[in-house]
Amino acid sequence: MRNALIFQEKLENSAGIKLRLKINDNRSTMLSVKWAPDCTRVSLHRMFLQAPRNVMQALACYLKGKDRKLAPSIKAYIEHNLQQLDYSHELDLSKLETKGRVYDLQKIYHYLNRNYFDGALDLHITWFGHGRRRSCNRVTFGLFHDPLRLIKINRLLDNKRFPDYFVAYVVYHEMLHYVCPTYVDEKGQKHIHSKEFKEREQEFKYFKLAQQWIRDNQHYLFHASY
Ligand SMILES: [Zn+2]
Repeated sequence: MRNALIFQEKLENSAGIKLRLKINDNRSTMLSVKWAPDCTRVSLHRMFLQAPRNVMQALACYLKGKDRKLAPSIKAYIEHNLQQLDYSHELDLSKLETKGRVYDLQKIYHYLNRNYFDGALDLHITWFGHGRRRSCNRVTFGLFHDPLRLIKINRLLDNKRFPDYFVAYVVYHEMLHYVCPTYVDEKGQKHIHSKEFKEREQEFKYFKLAQQWIRDNQHYLFHASY
C-alpha cells in the first residue's frame, strides 16, 4: 500500500497532474486511462510498480495526454512482463476438456512436450468451440493465453478429416508461443512469430507435411461450408 502511494506521488510529480490511480492485479487491464482536466483516472497493473525510470518517464508523458500514442518502451514493458505473469491458478481445471471424439489433446501435448521440450513445459490445454464452423472465411485453429498458460485448440480439428500430424503441428505451434514469446522492438513493432519462433517451428518433424496439407486443403479450410 505504501508502495502504491509513493508510486502515485512520483508519477504525479513527474506528469505534473493529479491522478486518481488504481493499481490492479487482473489479467485484462495493463494500462487504462481516462483523461479529464481536473483528475485523470488511471488503472495500472501492479507490474508497473517495478517499472524502470525510462518507462516511468514515458508513462508520465503519456498521462499528461499531449501525445496519446503509447511509447514503444511502455509497450515493450507490458509485453515482456505479461509473459512473466502467471494466473494459471485462476483456471478451473475441471472445465478443461482434452478428450475429443477423435483426438486426445493431453496425449498429443505430452508427446510433444517429451520429444521437443524435454518435458519442461507446464501448460494447460483444452478444446474450444462446438466443432461447427461459422460462416467466416478464416478459421482459428489454436490460441495461446499467456497469463493462463493455456492452449486452446478449435474443436473443428477433432475430426478425421484433419490428419494427426496436422493437429500435432497446431498444438506444437501454440506451445512455441510460450517458448518464444511475443516481443516489442525499440520501434514499438510487435513480433508475434519471431525469427527464432519460425526456426523452432521448422524443427517439428512433420512441419513440411503440415504446410503441404494446408496448401492442399485451402479450399476446404477457408471457403467450404458444411
Ligand atoms: Zn501463432
